[in-house]
Amino acid sequence: MKKEELKKKLKENIPDLQFFYKEENLSFAPQFLEELLQEEKEDFFKKEEMKEEEINFEAFHEFSYLDVYFSFLDHLDSVKSNDRVRKVIEDFEPKYIEFSNEVAYSKKYYLKLLFCLERCNLDGDQKRVIEQALKYYHNRGIHLDTEKQEKIKKINQELSKMSQDFEHNVLDDELEFEYFFTDEALLWEMPEDDIKIAHLRAKEKGKEWYFFDLSYSSYPLVLAYCVDSEIRRYFYNSKNNKASKWKYDNSEIILKTLQLRREKALLLGYNNYAEYSLSLKMAESPEKLKNMIEEIQKKVEIKAQEEIKILKEFFSLQEINTWDTWYYLKKYKKEKYGFEAKVLKKYFEFESVLSGLWKIVKKLYDIDVIPIIWEEKVNYGEDIRLYEVKKEGKLIAYFMGDYFYREGKRGWAWENDLRNKFISWKETIFPFVTNTCSFQKNKEWNTLLSLGDVETIFHEFWHALHEMSLKSPYGDLSIWSLEWDFVELPSQLMENWCREFDALKEFAYDINTWEQIPKNIIDLMEESENFWQGIMLLRQIEFTLLDLFFHMMDLPQTYTKLEENINDFLKNYSLLKKDKEFYKPYLSFRHIFAGAYSAWYYSYMWAEIIEAQVFAQFKKHGIFDTSVSSKFYNSILSEGSRKDADILLYNFLWENIDIGFYLKKYKIN
Ligand SMILES: [Zn+2]
Repeated sequence: MKKEELKKKLKENIPDLQFFYKEENLSFAPQFLEELLQEEKEDFFKKEEMKEEEINFEAFHEFSYLDVYFSFLDHLDSVKSNDRVRKVIEDFEPKYIEFSNEVAYSKKYYLKLLFCLERCNLDGDQKRVIEQALKYYHNRGIHLDTEKQEKIKKINQELSKMSQDFEHNVLDDELEFEYFFTDEALLWEMPEDDIKIAHLRAKEKGKEWYFFDLSYSSYPLVLAYCVDSEIRRYFYNSKNNKASKWKYDNSEIILKTLQLRREKALLLGYNNYAEYSLSLKMAESPEKLKNMIEEIQKKVEIKAQEEIKILKEFFSLQEINTWDTWYYLKKYKKEKYGFEAKVLKKYFEFESVLSGLWKIVKKLYDIDVIPIIWEEKVNYGEDIRLYEVKKEGKLIAYFMGDYFYREGKRGWAWENDLRNKFISWKETIFPFVTNTCSFQKNKEWNTLLSLGDVETIFHEFWHALHEMSLKSPYGDLSIWSLEWDFVELPSQLMENWCREFDALKEFAYDINTWEQIPKNIIDLMEESENFWQGIMLLRQIEFTLLDLFFHMMDLPQTYTKLEENINDFLKNYSLLKKDKEFYKPYLSFRHIFAGAYSAWYYSYMWAEIIEAQVFAQFKKHGIFDTSVSSKFYNSILSEGSRKDADILLYNFLWENIDIGFYLKKYKIN
């Protein structure tokens, strides 16, 4: 029977993704999904009606064929999308969400969980699994009366619609912005390649000039290289004034979004939305968080002021406008340090980087990442790498690296578990974890990476390792239920191993001469990067505090009043001259209005604060000291979400969070 065959395939050690991509199996997909959903539903309804004597931990710990199959399809859609896969997913997704919502608000099921926690004889991990499930039920408002629950569901729907509208306004407004340089002389400082691309883009639009827009590959070039300050100003103002006028106007949307979020938080019993957001995170309270960041702000401001002074003196300027800073900064760094990031590329050949990574993993944790001889099965595209991952010789997981760009693949980098760890009394299923990137492969020669690419490879692999190392038998306790402001710690931490000379020695060799990367290049890079960090951090602080401000304030009734409040807030961030009437970056602040980062933007800084403190311990004893790395492995990496994040961190540090390490990292006194 086809269904049974597919089910068996989902449990294979190395799942045969190519098999699921076959025409005949894709055409069976809608029916298969439907049948799996039906099975899960029946099972769920049965559990809702369980008698007390039937309740035990095993009832809540079952392998979900549906989740695994859906995640395979979703992966294929992300790495080699076609209309067929997309349609299967799009058709099925609403039903899947509808059922998830039913589960999410089932009071009967919630009570069974509660009974299990109180009456069943559970071990520590089992208790944790059930407690985590209950925690999410509370977060959604299971304890509220039906009327309030219905209100929350309605608010969720409205919020999701508004976040889409917000996103569209930002994108559409950005798309309408076009700028043609008719005079090449204004661009003479720009790298030739970039001028060529701009010229080709203009030609596509039927003009013989040079075309630029507000996208990430175009806008920064104008700010860094265009010699005319008024044009830089025009670009800067347009970028920061997106979605603020006429047909694309987000002003009412942000007011309404903030009001609804607040209403939801109040219904759930919190004082504001920030408090609600933090209830599932590591940071304690919005007030404490705000105080901590303001403390950092005071110190950062001094560094920022010094940097501005240096730049002004160097170029004999009376004042520096925000839109001119990239231009002067580029000149200053070139003259002062003579360092350009692109010189690093010849040291980062892709294959060497990857084998260097495996060496580092081995040295730190005695973990082997062993390539599996090519098997046709995962061959949904070229160059997909498969590995067995073993800790002290024992298999813990399978890993798949899919690093290069192909058509139909999403452009960013991510880590995902296509199948979570599952161990029960009758079977053991190993996790199947992936890293996906989109590097451009050099088909004729070696592929060289930028430092940023190398950091990405390390970063994503450490998410994978964090997941694969889980010592609990229950995949539910992996990183996916860890506090979201803690989950980036291992991955951010490992980026340090791309910048430390002792680690670079393992893999950074000149592709032409095979000479090791010289230490002075790394020092120069560090020095050059450090200048202007004050200003950069201040910008991050501005957004972090603005996010908290939005989600803690008592909201006014009208947008005009809200804007007055925002302007009062922004007065604190005026070290560099701006045109205030055009400075409205919050109207295109997608992280918090169209992404998942509302009252959570702080997590970027937060992860860095704890990462700096953890890394200081490695630095103190040597970055390959195994007493530190095994302590890290035992108290954080292999723990997943077995304990609360603050306990995990304390078990490693044996001290409380201290911003001093973060300040030291950025050379701030
Ligand atoms: Zn990450």
